[in-house]
Amino acid sequence: MRLIDGKAVAEKIQEQIKEKVAEMRLQSQRVPHLAAVLVGNDGASLTYVSNKVRACEKVGFRSTLIHLPEYITEAELLAQVQALNENPDIDGYIVQLPLPSHINAKKITYAISPDKDVDGFHPTNVGKLALGLPTFVPATPLGIIQLIEHYQISTEGKHCVVIGRSHIVGLPMSLLMSRNAYPGNCTVTLTHSRTANLAEETRRADILIAALGKPEFIKAEMVKEGAVVIDVGITRLPDASKKSGFVLKGDVAFEEVAPRCSYITPVPGGVGPMTIAALLKNTLLAAEKVV
Ligand code: NAD
Repeated sequence: MRLIDGKAVAEKIQEQIKEKVAEMRLQSQRVPHLAAVLVGNDGASLTYVSNKVRACEKVGFRSTLIHLPEYITEAELLAQVQALNENPDIDGYIVQLPLPSHINAKKITYAISPDKDVDGFHPTNVGKLALGLPTFVPATPLGIIQLIEHYQISTEGKHCVVIGRSHIVGLPMSLLMSRNAYPGNCTVTLTHSRTANLAEETRRADILIAALGKPEFIKAEMVKEGAVVIDVGITRLPDASKKSGFVLKGDVAFEEVAPRCSYITPVPGGVGPMTIAALLKNTLLAAEKVV
């Protein structure tokens, strides 16, 4: 069994981006500028957004955090989105999800200019992804693709089972693994909460990608011997022994599943750090106007 070290791969990618930004500075080019919009004070969202802003600073990007109060109206948020679309100083931006329930998240996502949509959630970008055209690939699936590439894991002709059909992870992941490219060329089964006999499906997987958000849901008997297991899940479970008061758990029961795998990602330190590196990569693409 080989442990996939997402932290190390993410650091390497960030180092490459940092060098690229240093070069841009040297040639007096403007450096990429990412904005992040955060509404309200959800603890996990605050952590995610501040990690993204910090990562920008580390590689030399400019970053702007726009922190708005929980009670902001949908119209006010749409006006903020419009202002970011029109601001030539901003290359790309994200609106951190989830949004408060009085705001229609779809309406906000669809209002983001596709050219600045570094999360890759806009229908134009999802359509491009489905057609295999260059676009902003959502950060978590892009991070997973980069991990598979880094470890030179073979994918052609393999059976890949994705658990979860969300628009930010499972669905784009299934498109990427089935495309005619490397990594890709898999036969993909996309499973979800209505899938009958999930374990029967997962046991057939050469590559299993779990993104359902249920801690330690995947047990050893659900995994084929020698499978590659990518654990996307992150759930905070209360733990009084920790300073933070919680512990992070993946969707895979790591201790019992790991011995069966050829490769496995840990939680934390697997997919999570890659998501941020992928967002930086998308911001660089946005600044270079190559998408
Ligand atoms: P989501 O809640 O939007 O989607 C979950 C999906 O899992 C749904 O499609 C649902 O049908 C499916 N599902 C739920 N229960 C199931 C079951 N019993 N059997 C089969 N399928 C089932 O979640 P999401 O946004 O896609 O996130 C999934 C997990 O990944 C969460 O834990 C989230 O925190 C984590 N996540 C991690 C990163 C990262 O950077 N590592 C990024 C995004 C999401």
